[in-house]
Amino acid sequence: QFSPKKPHVAFLPSPGLGHVTPLFELAKILVTNHGFHATFLNITTEASSAQNNLLHSPNLPHHLHIVDLPPIDISNLINSQTPGITHLCINTNESLKCLNKVLNQLPNKPQALVIDIFCTQAFDACKDAVPNIPVFTFFTASARPLALSLFLPQLDRDVEGEFVDLPHPVQVPGCEPVQIKGMLDQIMNRKSDEYKWYLHHISRLPMAAGILVNTWEDLEPVTLRALQEHAFYHNIPIPPVHPIGPVIKETEPVTQTGSECIAWLNKQPSNSVLFVSFGSGGILTTKQQNELAWGLQLSGQRFLWVVRPPSDDSNATSFFNAGNDDSNYVGSYLPKDFVEKTRKRSMLVTSWAPQMKILRHPSTASFLTHCGWNSVLESVANGVPMIAWPLYAEQRMNAMMVEEEIGVGVKVAVGEGGLVGREEVERVVKMVMVEGGKRKAIK
Ligand code: UDP
Repeated sequence: QFSPKKPHVAFLPSPGLGHVTPLFELAKILVTNHGFHATFLNITTEASSAQNNLLHSPNLPHHLHIVDLPPIDISNLINSQTPGITHLCINTNESLKCLNKVLNQLPNKPQALVIDIFCTQAFDACKDAVPNIPVFTFFTASARPLALSLFLPQLDRDVEGEFVDLPHPVQVPGCEPVQIKGMLDQIMNRKSDEYKWYLHHISRLPMAAGILVNTWEDLEPVTLRALQEHAFYHNIPIPPVHPIGPVIKETEPVTQTGSECIAWLNKQPSNSVLFVSFGSGGILTTKQQNELAWGLQLSGQRFLWVVRPPSDDSNATSFFNAGNDDSNYVGSYLPKDFVEKTRKRSMLVTSWAPQMKILRHPSTASFLTHCGWNSVLESVANGVPMIAWPLYAEQRMNAMMVEEEIGVGVKVAVGEGGLVGREEVERVVKMVMVEGGKRKAIK
């Protein structure tokens, strides 16, 4: 039942579990701990069963209402070469054409809206449908890429040519200087659609009533202070920045694969398993996947690997179908000898693994991760040392924080041709798995 006395907030994430999960958790916290009503607007995509399982679980708290936006067809706007962020922005853009109508039709009007950074169309839709309500942005990565992103429109004005060619690090006011090369993929090529979409949304963030960011003071004191002390970056207004992290999931939907993972972990000795996962979007090339496989074999350690079919297409991502069961037998895309040789000490998962339950499990010792920000937070919250293997977006920045600033993991060294070789995999796995040495210091 809707009670008009309770505050009512609507949420609007862009698709993908990396965005949906933290906004959904925040909605749950407000409903469960603070007596709010929440309406969660869900942008539907080509079916991602993991997202559906999460949002349509039978155990959601009362007063948390899910509203599915009508499905759209973007097949004529994208192709297999369309990179992840462009795909996501096109999908979101098309879906949000009905936002005004959806907001108008809500039986109860929200008093505030929380959106993620790829949904800035909401600033316009709200003006008509729910005028004068504050619209907050939830930045689901850390404060460091937030500061660089807020400074981006200024950089775009000041710099000619590519940022990667700048001879010196970029100085965002009040922050540590940052070497742009390889830090935020979407700004590496200014002629790309990814860059144009990113700049478009980022340039609109000053319209927000405030920016919520999934971090906290002790983790990023310098950057947070810089953001909070500057009302402007040159001419760009900086809205109030609120560090509200870590916002991480508490529970996960029960699935058959999930139960199998936990049953397997229950049979392993404590602190003996390396968890390997590249998030919802990470895909390796065939050659890289094979090197990882043989490195895991050489390490002699137990492992639980969320493994997806490899792709040699540099834009490949599983972002839009992560968690859909893949009926392909892993033996068709992993070396057959490898599967045979490691059978007794490994579990291979081809769909969606219950990451939080795995990280919390006493058998789990370490986490080889692509360093998506949610994964980093979940690992830190559970005291699990990391092997940082960044792939795209702001993950290299996160990996650098993990190793150099927070000191909770080790980064893989990339060798010739951008490949992480099997000996390197063996080296870092032993570093975080074998008691003593680096593992002890990290713990
Ligand atoms: N995740 C999961 N099982 C999987 C893969 C991912 O539960 O098999 C969850 C993970 O716990 C995290 C989110 O999906 O909450 C991924 O977010 P992250 O920011 O780490 O990476 P992204 O997928 O956005 O690259």
